[in-house]
Amino acid sequence: MTEPSRDDGRPFRREGERIVNEIAQGLRSLEDGVAWFSGLVPARRQAVLLQVTGYAMQAHITAADGRAGVARSGVKPTANPSVMICMDPPRYGFAGLPSAEHVTAFRVLVAVFAVADARRRETYCKGVCGHAWHNLPAETEQP
Ligand SMILES: [Zn+2]
Repeated sequence: MTEPSRDDGRPFRREGERIVNEIAQGLRSLEDGVAWFSGLVPARRQAVLLQVTGYAMQAHITAADGRAGVARSGVKPTANPSVMICMDPPRYGFAGLPSAEHVTAFRVLVAVFAVADARRRETYCKGVCGHAWHNLPAETEQP
């Protein structure tokens, strides 16, 4: 018994991917992303945290990225997600945090991913990048 894949989460994952990468590339504010995230049901929030955790792992964040990102996130350095991301190696169990900490976890994760991803775009990806998520159309800028 298979349903047509209308709610398999794929369009939703694409939405999360677009929003998180727009924030990382300065096309969208973190506050705007937080407003989107806050409006999701808890299960979706957990799915987004897992998704962004994957991006952070792929971006090979360092403890220095963690500290720089936390400073930009608006979250206290003593909050659980801040402490976890600044460990060396980072702890990635964000989706397992109590739901009251999901929003701070999102802030910290996205802010730290943005730091690491900016470095990646400037080095590894520079001029040779085929990553679809690094070549988002800039909707606000017209040539
Ligand atoms: Zn790239």
